[in-house]
Amino acid sequence: MIDSGTPVKDAAPAAQPATVALFISDLHLQASMPHTAKAFFSFLRDHARGTRQLYLLGDIFEYWAGDDDLDPFNRQVIDALRAVSDGGVEVFWISGNRDFLVGAKFAEAGGIALLPDPFVADIAGQKIVLTHGDALCTDDAGYMAFRTQVRAPQWQQEFLARPLEQRKAIIAGLRQGSREAQRDKADYIMDVNAAAVAALFDASDTSIMIHGHTHRPACHRIESNGAHRLRYVLPDWDCDAQEQRGGWIAVTPDGKIERVGLDVIQTAS
Ligand code: MN
Repeated sequence: MIDSGTPVKDAAPAAQPATVALFISDLHLQASMPHTAKAFFSFLRDHARGTRQLYLLGDIFEYWAGDDDLDPFNRQVIDALRAVSDGGVEVFWISGNRDFLVGAKFAEAGGIALLPDPFVADIAGQKIVLTHGDALCTDDAGYMAFRTQVRAPQWQQEFLARPLEQRKAIIAGLRQGSREAQRDKADYIMDVNAAAVAALFDASDTSIMIHGHTHRPACHRIESNGAHRLRYVLPDWDCDAQEQRGGWIAVTPDGKIERVGLDVIQTAS
């Protein structure tokens, strides 16, 4: 649109950021994957600091044994998030199935607001329902039972009361068991259940969903009674593999939703 009646003003510093919100999930950050961590820090520095809201949608850490597990690697991640929140970006967190033990101390240290799962955000005039995504995988009965158990406040209290080293050993055992169980599971069991997705759209009265967890990045268009719904799935990150992968979702000030690949990140040097 050309507005010919308005005189052209001198170029002022851009008041409007390129994006108003960024979404990431499933980085599975761990000290043994330094290139992935480096890509994450580059993302925070070069992209997250220029937006208004950053949403971390689960499994940012490979595991979280409790807010007292402050080894140098975890501190580095917290400090990097803190630099983003100190810079005026609102940072939000939805826990995943690996880092659900993140608590108030972690949130305070990182300047992060913990959100329930699911959560409906209003972004650039659109309602978007956000979830990690594991709760949608209802075909995996074994996992759903485990999820109910470990999300119970009493289970968490008892677990967190154990010494840190014991917690880490238990988690290592669980991760090993989960890897073995996954090998025997059919492909569809590890993906979201269509009825669970529809139920979440209905309950949240939204037509846009963003989630992670399944490591199947996509934008699914779902037709439902003449209306259409969009389900965006975030990618997981791995920059330590030979074929690097990762990326995020961005929302522009005019409400456009864009999927961004990792190749825009400068990981060199
Ligand atoms: Mn997950």
